[in-house]
Amino acid sequence: MAYRVLARAYRSTTFDEVVGQGAIATTLKNAIESGRVHHGYLFTGTRGVGKTSVARILAKALNCLSSDAPTTTPCCDCDSCRAVSEGEDIDVVEIDAASNTGVDNIRDLRNNAAFRPARSRYKIYIIDEVHMLSTGAFNALLKTLEEPPEHVKFILATTNPEKVPATIQSRCQQFDFKAIDMVSIANHLRTILEAEKIQADDGVLRRVARLANGSMRDALSLLDKILSFESKHLTIDVVDEIIPPPHDELAAAVMTSIANGDAAGALQAFDTALQGGRTVDRFCDHLIQHARTLMIMRVCGAQTELVDVASQLRETLAQQASAFDAPTFVYMVSMLEELRRNVRYSGASRALADAAIVRLAMCHQFSDIKELLEHTDTNDQDVAEAKKKVTPKLKASTNPAPTRTKAAPITLPKPSTTKSKPAVDVLPAAKPTPVEKASSVPIPKAPVNISAAQWEQAATDPLVVRVTEAVDGTLFDVRPMDDQDDIHPPTG
Ligand SMILES: [Zn+2]
Repeated sequence: MAYRVLARAYRSTTFDEVVGQGAIATTLKNAIESGRVHHGYLFTGTRGVGKTSVARILAKALNCLSSDAPTTTPCCDCDSCRAVSEGEDIDVVEIDAASNTGVDNIRDLRNNAAFRPARSRYKIYIIDEVHMLSTGAFNALLKTLEEPPEHVKFILATTNPEKVPATIQSRCQQFDFKAIDMVSIANHLRTILEAEKIQADDGVLRRVARLANGSMRDALSLLDKILSFESKHLTIDVVDEIIPPPHDELAAAVMTSIANGDAAGALQAFDTALQGGRTVDRFCDHLIQHARTLMIMRVCGAQTELVDVASQLRETLAQQASAFDAPTFVYMVSMLEELRRNVRYSGASRALADAAIVRLAMCHQFSDIKELLEHTDTNDQDVAEAKKKVTPKLKASTNPAPTRTKAAPITLPKPSTTKSKPAVDVLPAAKPTPVEKASSVPIPKAPVNISAAQWEQAATDPLVVRVTEAVDGTLFDVRPMDDQDDIHPPTG
């Protein structure tokens, strides 16, 4: 027997088998049971969510020959049911409006509709992609749709309801088919694979379900593609081979490693992205988009509508968003954007990108001076002394304050004790700090007025100089303040 693609072989055949559209199936069943079946339905929704399947099930339910009247449980075995399932029934006419757009096609339909069905209770017209009809064709259809003969039912389906005239919409009962959630798709795939006696890891099903973006047909097409490569045991490695992870998944992997301070992992994920054929600047785009999404979710809350995220991904992304604070995301976006601009004109774009990723992954090392001090050898008298002096002043640097409206870049003066190396460089506007670290340190409530002399003293302190040089880092004051004028950066 010739191979049938999964989407055809496993098309749902009864109302109870319909995946992800339970409310619509129930409403239609109730309509059949109570004898209130409308003469015209308009099914809307993106591709592969079950519009045609439900249209055929409804046609079978209305026309099943095993029953004396329309039934909610068509037999799927009588001549009528079988023919409808194949789309070949004499009384259930399927029309693709995309290739029958003209007024003449609809006139033919109208003339035929006048005749009684050959063997069934109803003559049913399923018009797919109905928005493709011409204006004249819509007008011709309108008359029939308004007052069809008693034996005629219309089921119109469209992926683009905005293009269906309001006059048509108002004469139909409209059902909006929603995108099928990831869990339902994954469960359905599991059922199919069990029926086909194929083993599959959970990760595989999740990946396919996610890539399908709410479309069962897309999910089954992807599964077909994977099965043509490996048909015994599906592992995530097999799937990686056939369908490389999408950009945002790799961007998420890079971001997770950065959040964990794992520079090696971040570089590895970045390399995977490039191996998959992405260019450096394209991948920067994806990283920027990802950072933007996380930033918005961090600022506006996980449920914000400002980002277009599939509902099943929100929780994962919200977790990622909580790994950093908002200023860090601002810093990331601006840094990545600068990187993207630079790599376009650089002969060493890969090196630039690698350096930027390492820098992001190690950002906590640049800022968390307090922690560094804790690890410094406490037996060293100088160090212990300096620690006492410096720690309180720099404590706040581990604590990016959400109230701060503007983090003033401050250039610290070169300490007189240092000859060759500058102690500090010009500081970034927003210093990244993983938020978990920040949350453990209370925001200081002390007044924050500091004089140029105090800054100078802190910056030229030998221990501070040593530490900043050791980590090739910068000093940055991020204490909260009520009034921006409170900052007194030294001008020297
Ligand atoms: Zn039947």
